[in-house]
Amino acid sequence: MLLPPESPRLTVAGARHCARRFAVSLVAMAVLAGCAIAPGPPVPLTSPLPRPYLLASPVHHSIDLAAETAHTEGAHQLRARAVIHASAALHAARALAAPPLPWACAQNDARLVANADERVVLKARSDADALAEWRTRPILRRAVRRGLGGYQLLRWLYLRRGVCDVPAFFEGAIVPTRFLGLWLQVHREVADRLARVERLLRKQDAHLRIARIGGFVPRTLRGPYGSLPWLSNHAFGLAVDIDPHRNPYLSIDDLVALERVSGVKLVREASVPAGDRWDRFVLAQRTYRARIGPWLRDNAAAIHDLRLRRARGDATVVPELDHLERLRKLVTGSARLRAAVRVGFLTLPRELVVAMEDAGFTWCTDFPNGADLMHFELRRPR
Ligand SMILES: [Zn+2]
Repeated sequence: MLLPPESPRLTVAGARHCARRFAVSLVAMAVLAGCAIAPGPPVPLTSPLPRPYLLASPVHHSIDLAAETAHTEGAHQLRARAVIHASAALHAARALAAPPLPWACAQNDARLVANADERVVLKARSDADALAEWRTRPILRRAVRRGLGGYQLLRWLYLRRGVCDVPAFFEGAIVPTRFLGLWLQVHREVADRLARVERLLRKQDAHLRIARIGGFVPRTLRGPYGSLPWLSNHAFGLAVDIDPHRNPYLSIDDLVALERVSGVKLVREASVPAGDRWDRFVLAQRTYRARIGPWLRDNAAAIHDLRLRRARGDATVVPELDHLERLRKLVTGSARLRAAVRVGFLTLPRELVVAMEDAGFTWCTDFPNGADLMHFELRRPR
């Protein structure tokens, strides 16, 4: 499904136009200042943005900043900064003109990963800028929990995702909103979508109540294979977690155990309608809770039997015994599944999940390492 048309201020075409216009004026400025555009010094902000961030126009923040800087700084600084920002703006214009990147391919820092020297220089510069911002922009102390050190890491990650002026992004793109009676902070775009969800629910006369909700949190996720942390989509205000205490993140191990005990094949793909996925999860939840007692008894008896046969010298039972023991460990070792027996693991109402999808969110049951049942994010383009 396509995203609905955006407001004029946020259209891609508009962003493209503005980026081009500013790029042209900045190039002219840089040329007037007597400096070469290419090859310029290392450019920290050259990465294309994932679509929704483009709509939030952080690129404009950087370009505005460059224009402002040009008025206030001396000729030498002006020249240096104009080159950096003109190159960034040119690159941004090029990125905007390019076909949209798939959402999941937003890791746009391949160049920095490949070039360690460039990375070290730019990180040092970013840390110095972070210190200056930390002193002068109060919003950072309110939003970032881990002090200056935490902000220096976050700022670097935001830059690598293309957000050029982090405090301006926090101030301009993140707004407070109310959803089903609870306050949260999210990206403007998400606030509009949540209002749409409420309208859809009102139309169905569905009076839902939720206990907790979270949106914008500038935080990192552990990267794959021990690499640099990633920014969560919560760091952009583009994701919401609803009733996280009752709708946990189920790991792949949890899901395997769930399927084996319940006998229900879960459907996790986001291309399948959220209501259909919800039906399977709820069926699995109900069946799991009914079957887990007998399953554990049968499993223990089978393991006991196979161990006896192995003790009598029957080596052919070893693979089956290993398999059953591993499965038992998965089932009994997960605190989330133990909790699931008592209270379930999915309390979100079906109407809510469906309305969220209809309003343009993805229900993220399809992460490679599990199903995040509390988590919805602005839909990735298909
Ligand atoms: Zn989340």
